[in-house]
Parts: sequence; structure tokens; C-alpha cells
Amino acid sequence: MLKVFCSPARYTQGPHATLQLGPEIHNLGIESPALIVAGRSAVLLLSEDWVKTFADVGMSFEVFPFAGECTAAEIRRGRQAAVASKARVIGAGGGKVLDTARAIASDLGLPVVNCPTIASSDAPCSALSVIYTEAGAVEEYRIYRRNPDLVLVDTAVIARSPARHLVSGMGDALATWFEAKVCVEGGVKNMRGGASTRSALALAELCYKTLLADGMAALEALRRKETNDSLERLVEANTLLSGLGFESSGLAAAHAIHNGLTKAAETHPFMHGEKVAFGVITQLMLESQPPGVVEEVLTFSRSVGLPVTFAEVGIANPSRELLEIVAQRATAAGETIHNEPFPVTPALVAEAMRAADSVGAAFLNRNGGKNL
Ligand SMILES: [Zn+2]
Repeated sequence: MLKVFCSPARYTQGPHATLQLGPEIHNLGIESPALIVAGRSAVLLLSEDWVKTFADVGMSFEVFPFAGECTAAEIRRGRQAAVASKARVIGAGGGKVLDTARAIASDLGLPVVNCPTIASSDAPCSALSVIYTEAGAVEEYRIYRRNPDLVLVDTAVIARSPARHLVSGMGDALATWFEAKVCVEGGVKNMRGGASTRSALALAELCYKTLLADGMAALEALRRKETNDSLERLVEANTLLSGLGFESSGLAAAHAIHNGLTKAAETHPFMHGEKVAFGVITQLMLESQPPGVVEEVLTFSRSVGLPVTFAEVGIANPSRELLEIVAQRATAAGETIHNEPFPVTPALVAEAMRAADSVGAAFLNRNGGKNL
């Protein structure tokens, strides 16, 4: 199997990076007007900087106000607006805004520019997006031929985002190293259909080390609405390292457990990375990892406020039937849980989830903590 590594063509990050958006896209050879697909808070936070940065390179721009859901209809509406003004498309906001902008740009064969305003998952650097129905259910995953041409992250904006979003991004990033290792050891295909490279695995490991070293300090900086070196490193881990690690090495049990948990309506108020974090502990149980590894993950999760028990993902004392439904979904044909180096059955998953809940609860007891 050939090794395949993929990444965005350009990644730019730092406080007030938005002021460089004009020159950055100018460097990509984009000279026509820009259509910025943006949520309301991105418009409030960034409009002034957009005016300045586009004036710097003599470009005009218009804002396409995002209606709130990444649906086929919203993508069509955006495509019409982009065609009408012969514009290049830029996404600015959370995951759904970026997914919409990326779908519009890709339908029109245009470069993809992502400006995430939160660091809540590793999606901005990847080449896939999730399309929803009008009712808010997942309709399809779209996989694009190319990763974004530019991902620009303004850490002064991230510093003003809700703490829970950053923590959720840490939960998503927490899975990267553990899932990447499984894929590499098993010699399975990554998300791009190739084998992993040493580069991707090294980035995944750096991702984990960065969370442990900088997670707490980054969160404290964000609570003060300030940027510092820890927040810079952590945002890079959540966005770039985790994105490259998962896409170029692969996913395993943790994300499949997440997908299983989405079957329980009680988990819907919880963010992607929060459910993935519980999936990580379950994966460690499934693999019978040594207590030291489990303790390190629990200590980290607790320090930043990621869930470690059933109760903390909304399913305190789940029934046998509910766990069965979750485990069935987690082990569906084609799920990444089958990248684990042994046959994974629904019964094994249910047992591993129970074990994860009990080590999490025991950890909380020992450390005088309560459920979140
Ligand atoms: Zn994820």
C-alpha cells in the first residue's frame, strides 16, 4: 500500500491573523471579489478587520449571511450568490459555516478558504464536510478532492470564544494519537486510502503531548480572553495537528463510540469532542491499556473538564437496551472501530463502555470530584 499524507496547502495562525486575510488570499492568486459566508458572531467580530485587510489589497467583498444549518438548500443559495457576483468564497465561523462555504467553493471548482472562529474540532483542515437535512439530521458526508487552500486562524478571536468549545476541541484532539497508533500498528488505510507516514504519526503524538503540556494554561488564558503561548500551541494542536493526524493516519474506536453515542438522544446536548473524549476512555478499556495510560488520560480530561463518566455525557445509569443500541451503531459495518487489531463485537463495546464509566467514577471518587 502506498503512503499518503494530505494537508491544507497553507495554514496561518496568530493573534489578529484576520488582518492578513487579504494578502494571504492575494498570494493564492485570488483577485476577484470575495463572498464571505459568515455566521452572525463572525460578522460582529471581524467586519472591521475585513474592511481593512481587503482594502489593503484592493479587493472588494460581500458577506453572505449564513442561515444556521449546512443544508443542500443553503449550499445552493450560496452558490447562486457566488455566481451572481463572480466571487471567490471564504468561510468564517464555526464548523457548519465552514462546511457550507467549502461545499459552495468546491461545487464551483474554486479554492477553499477557511477562517475558523472557534477551535472546537479538527474539521477545518480536512477535506470532508457534513451535510444536514432541514430537520438537523446528518444527511451525508462529502469528501472533497482537495484539502483547503488556506486555513487562517485568528487566535485573538479564538480567545474570545466560549471555553466549552475549546475544551471540546481538546476532546477531539485527545483521540488523535490513540486512534492514529492503532491504524499504524494495524497497517490499515487512513482517511485518504493510503498507509500512514511517519510524519503523520509524529504529528499525532505531538498533538497529545501539547494537550497535556498546554491544555490547562490555554484554557485559563481563554477565560481571561487573552492569547498566550500555551493558547497558541493548543489551538494549533486542536486544529492543525489533530486534523493532519486523523486524516493522514486514521480513526479507530474512539470516533466510532462517538457515533454510537449519537444514537442516544440524551447525548445530543453534548459536543462532538465531549463524546469523543468518553470514546477515548472506552477505547483504552477495549484495548486493556495499562493503568498508567488510563490515569494520564483521566487526569488530563478532568483538569480541563472533559467527560469521564456516563452521567457526564447525559446517560447516567443507561439501560442494557440503550447500551446495546449505542454498541450496535459503534460496530456497524465500515465503522473505524474495526481498525482495532482484534474483532470488536457489540458485547465487547458495551462492556468497555461500562468499564470506562467505572474507572471514570472511581477516579472522581479518589480525587474528591463530582460529575460535571
Ligand atoms: Zn472528530
